[in-house]
Amino acid sequence: AQHFLDRSKAHPELAAYLALDEAATLAQAQAADQRLAAGTAGALEGLPLAHKDIFVTKDFASTAASKMLQGYRSPFDATVVRKLADAGVVTLGKVSCDEFAMGSGNENTAVAPVGAAAAAPVRNPWDASRVPGGSSGGSAAAVAAGLAPAATGTDTGGSIRQPAAFCGITGIKPTYGRVSRYGMIAFASSLDQAGPMARSAEDCALLLSAMAGPDPERDSTSLNTPAEDFSLQLNESIDGLRIGVPAEFFGEGIDADVRTAIDAALKEYEKLGAKLVPVALPRTELSIPVYYIIAPAEASSNLSRFDGVKFGHRAKDYADLQEMYVNTRTEGFGDEVKRRIMVGAYVLSHGYYDAYYLKALKIRRIIANDFQNAFKDCDVIAGPVAPSVAWAIGEKANDPVANYLADIFTLPASLAGLPGMSLPVGLGAGGMPVGLQLIGNYLQESKLLNVAHRFQ
Ligand code: GLN
Repeated sequence: AQHFLDRSKAHPELAAYLALDEAATLAQAQAADQRLAAGTAGALEGLPLAHKDIFVTKDFASTAASKMLQGYRSPFDATVVRKLADAGVVTLGKVSCDEFAMGSGNENTAVAPVGAAAAAPVRNPWDASRVPGGSSGGSAAAVAAGLAPAATGTDTGGSIRQPAAFCGITGIKPTYGRVSRYGMIAFASSLDQAGPMARSAEDCALLLSAMAGPDPERDSTSLNTPAEDFSLQLNESIDGLRIGVPAEFFGEGIDADVRTAIDAALKEYEKLGAKLVPVALPRTELSIPVYYIIAPAEASSNLSRFDGVKFGHRAKDYADLQEMYVNTRTEGFGDEVKRRIMVGAYVLSHGYYDAYYLKALKIRRIIANDFQNAFKDCDVIAGPVAPSVAWAIGEKANDPVANYLADIFTLPASLAGLPGMSLPVGLGAGGMPVGLQLIGNYLQESKLLNVAHRFQ
């Protein structure tokens, strides 16, 4: 823990951490030492880990990178935080993300990182002029730069997979409901899912085994599927494995350098005994408008709790209650968050609900059905995580649509609630890492980790 704390403090230029507290971390590490000495160690005893600042923690402030929650202290730990602590994990601190997990580049952040006076985008450790991806950009940058051996992330539409790809690490978004959402600051509740980000599929399997499991009293959407040991299948042979390759993931939008790296990875899999089979995901393109209706709709509802009354920021100047709400939200939310609230309120409003929201829900169901058709012919689906390698900081900062389009390959699995992961498979333009995405059927995390581990 001391090593990773020192290294984290030595690299403020990455802007990865929003909170570090050496005394709190070392107290947790000492408790781990005592359990090791007493012979009561957990499966991950003493392992240092950074939490995305979307998970609430008792020992550190929890901000979701928003002014709205600057300095906020939760009276309880998120279930993920508690379960990892029960397994012996020592919290290094809280890492940056896009505000309320809305973004793809970790540029939408409103809280100053450790060692800085003002909010700053997280830097990609491979090339500091580029984004680390988002929204779990702090998690990905911290692991890639060796500031933490592992981190938690959350993925609503790609936020574990895409930053893992951009920073050359491994991350898995489990099946929706595998991991409890309790204490995860909510973005879009029907999509939000937590998962581990680490240096290998093997590490992800160890972490996920501690994170997953039912939480019926606190998250009614958590699945009633007992936690399993996700490491058990890691070394199974993949001889004869059928890898589905959707043509829609290899069309016009994908950059040539990414395509080359993905094609090479698929060839490796053939050498390992896998068979490539063509599958169709014909509604891939529609996943962008569908997601960008459903996610903002849910966000507009979830974020209504930030009203200046219950917790977080409250405006100083106001004449009456209405103005208190308006000024609080005007000051507390960043531009992207406001954009989502407006879009969400619009698509849910009378007269537009049927035209947009209801239609999006129907197409979401069709997208999920398309996957079930594809899984009749294959065991896992493979393709790129993103159409390009990490872009330059600032390049897409003022262009929300360009950001949304870059999510095209991660959104389908999110809308269907399927598990998906990213593993590094090579380098593309500028020597930047390229991630291969593996998508499995429901509850097939062990299979995905097995397939990734065989490559690694
Ligand atoms: N980039 C997507 C968005 O901005 C996904 C974010 C996420 O998965 N949290 O909504």
